[in-house]
Amino acid sequence: MKAAVFQGPPGSWPAKPLVVQEVPRPEPAPGEVLVRVAACGMCRTDLEYMKEGMRPPKAPPLVLGHEISGTVEKLGDGVEGVKEGEAVIVAFSLPCGRCAFCRGGTENLCERLEVVGASRDGGMAEYVAVPASAAIPLPPRAPLVESAVLTDSFGTSYHALVHLGAIQPGDVVAIYGASGGLGLSAVQIAKALGATVIAVGRQPWKLAKAKEMGADYLLSTLEHPQLEKEIRRLTGEGATLSLDASGAPEMIACACRSTRPGGKIVVMGYGVKTVSVPLHRLMWLQYSILGARTYRLVDLKRVLAMAEKGMINPAAVASHRFPLAEVNEAYRMLDEGKVLRGLVVP
Ligand SMILES: [Zn+2]
Ligand SMILES: [Zn+2]
Repeated sequence: MKAAVFQGPPGSWPAKPLVVQEVPRPEPAPGEVLVRVAACGMCRTDLEYMKEGMRPPKAPPLVLGHEISGTVEKLGDGVEGVKEGEAVIVAFSLPCGRCAFCRGGTENLCERLEVVGASRDGGMAEYVAVPASAAIPLPPRAPLVESAVLTDSFGTSYHALVHLGAIQPGDVVAIYGASGGLGLSAVQIAKALGATVIAVGRQPWKLAKAKEMGADYLLSTLEHPQLEKEIRRLTGEGATLSLDASGAPEMIACACRSTRPGGKIVVMGYGVKTVSVPLHRLMWLQYSILGARTYRLVDLKRVLAMAEKGMINPAAVASHRFPLAEVNEAYRMLDEGKVLRGLVVP
């Protein structure tokens, strides 16, 4: 089969591009299924490995890609409950099922978590082998290609907004980095759940997309250098809930200055920089800062139900399609901010 292989070392892209090459088709181990990939989303986390030098848990050569939809091609020994030919999305976060976190219902924090496209080969290929428990059947009318974005973009945003942010109808939610797959999915989910949404981003065309997805107010960081003043002007006491999809310290610092007393700041963006928080404000205003790591299986099921009811629209987030042969060009466009969520269709 064909696969786009990251040869490493971390941080060497684009000088050393991904190599689209023939590799042996994986065989599903007992308990696994082989999925024929219909689409695989490109995530900024991939660029962290490729360009920024973060080390993936599995040393290269590695097939990246963790936002996958496809059809079940072959069952490994002992697999029940999934059928050959069935359309599925793949949960990329693979918990062990046995540790204290898994038993306690927070399997996203599993001690022995494996991640598709990071600790084992992922979806930038024609086929991927995954545990059968990670292959989640799609409802009959769901679009196979675009549904890939339900796994990371929507699943992670749902977990952050609903499970950690405890979003309620009537909340005023400021979403930072409402410009990529996660941020725009979060706009859709927050609107579907009855919140007023302030979308914060940089590029006007992406903010226009946030508007199409229902955002009530748009704030461009280019036009509003004093962002927190604008948020206070719009909200009075501040946002009830601030969600960061950017991983940028200045956005989280802004959230600390514009979230109302007793409110929540949930951080699902990934970054390596440090943020300083004035402790007197944290104590006196009694706001919470919560990290949000991927999602639990139950979050994915709820996202699928929302998509089935038409409450969210994954196709609106999946802005571009690329053949596998153009994978390097596709990541270049992601790096330059020219796509919302790009899908590689092998
Ligand atoms: Zn991701
Ligand atoms: Zn575990």
